[in-house]
Amino acid sequence: MGFMQGKKVFVVGAASTRSIAWGVAQAMRREGAELAFSYQGDRLERVVRDLAAKVESDLCMHLDVCSDHQIQDAFDLLASRWDGVDAIVHSVAFAPRDQLDGNYVDVVTREGFDTALDISAYSLTALAKGGRELMRGRNGAIVTMTYLGAVRVVPNYNVMGVAKAALEANVRYLAAALGPEGTRVNAISAGPIRTLAASGIGDFRAMLNYVQERTPLRRNVTIEEVGNAAAFLCSDLASAITGDVLYVDTGYHILGMA
Ligand code: NAD
Repeated sequence: MGFMQGKKVFVVGAASTRSIAWGVAQAMRREGAELAFSYQGDRLERVVRDLAAKVESDLCMHLDVCSDHQIQDAFDLLASRWDGVDAIVHSVAFAPRDQLDGNYVDVVTREGFDTALDISAYSLTALAKGGRELMRGRNGAIVTMTYLGAVRVVPNYNVMGVAKAALEANVRYLAAALGPEGTRVNAISAGPIRTLAASGIGDFRAMLNYVQERTPLRRNVTIEEVGNAAAFLCSDLASAITGDVLYVDTGYHILGMA
């Protein structure tokens, strides 16, 4: 029996077979979880429905995390099919491409800042609020995806680093607020992985090569490895872990000088 047997998990952020959310979904399904998926727009519906089918799920819904109305609809649909929700996977981020290439002060705008913070940080709170009643008292867990750029300066990561810093603080405040109801909230800080979202970051290939040459394990992390860590954090094996950031980055974050 898998260590997520019977857990009902809402996965937000799958967009392709390269998505971190897809690595998470596969690991959780392998460990016995039942999954539901959202897709951001009509453009992604077919892709996400096909991914869902591969992990025996037919529960898929449109969800733009900027819309409180759509978040409510998503949880209403889950409530109509499930007796509750045991875990939410938040694997969503966005900043306009022009914000992620060049000197931070030169390229950042008020609009770009707002968009990055809303979609990449506030959306975690919005999902936590939306799922609160369905998760209450189930010893459930919420997990989100962050990056080292939250706590260190990484070229071109720019406003997304600011958004990830907000996301990590958000994890701590949500963990404190929802802990008494039995819900844990954690983040995984993943090393760089070639995905659709990552392709928006200037010189991303250089980032992958840089890490691979210097990180203790001398290789980049995979979505399967991030998925395994997320499955652990959302399972009862991690029942005393909340408000934390777990680095799944082949050790890169420990380096002062390589
Ligand atoms: P991805 O492109 O596969 O996933 C990003 C997802 O965000 C997509 O599914 C997209 O549809 C969704 N999204 C964006 N705006 C949305 C909105 N308004 N409403 C609903 N969904 C929206 O890329 P990924 O790399 O798997 O990204 C997943 C998470 O992992 C992000 O938070 C990202 O910052 C984080 N992360 C990625 C890396 C990396 O190197 N790829 C490293 C660390 C953390």
